[in-house]
Amino acid sequence: MEFKTKYSLGDLVYMIVPISNHKSVFCSSCNGDKYLQLEKNFYKCPRCEGTGKIFQGEYIIKWEFFEKPRKIDRIRITETIKKDKSKKIEEIYGFVSSSYSESEREKNFWYIPATNLFSSLKEAKLEVKKRNANLDRRNKRTNI
Ligand SMILES: [Zn+2]
Repeated sequence: MEFKTKYSLGDLVYMIVPISNHKSVFCSSCNGDKYLQLEKNFYKCPRCEGTGKIFQGEYIIKWEFFEKPRKIDRIRITETIKKDKSKKIEEIYGFVSSSYSESEREKNFWYIPATNLFSSLKEAKLEVKKRNANLDRRNKRTNI
């Protein structure tokens, strides 16, 4: 199948990346005390397993852009079949620092989806601004 990619090998692009963090909340069974008291005895809280916290997954704190463009070293097209049988085609671009020797290159690739790459710094900055504004709205709602 012929597929026209957004960028070509060797193109210089500006990337944006999410900065993420783990979110956990205090355990509501022990209120973060890690132990439960039954009469005179203390028991390790079974809900949080004595950590006092419940892990709620990873969330994105903010998006950042890189000032310097990077050269595309690899292009991958992935095709996934969704539940409704429709196909989802994604372009993923690989980057590797030229300071690595030929043998080290392979394990030092990083991959960025096409949706996080831009042909100008201006576009990258605008997108970061837009995504961060959306995050702020969401974080206000959920009180992170
Ligand atoms: Zn607990």
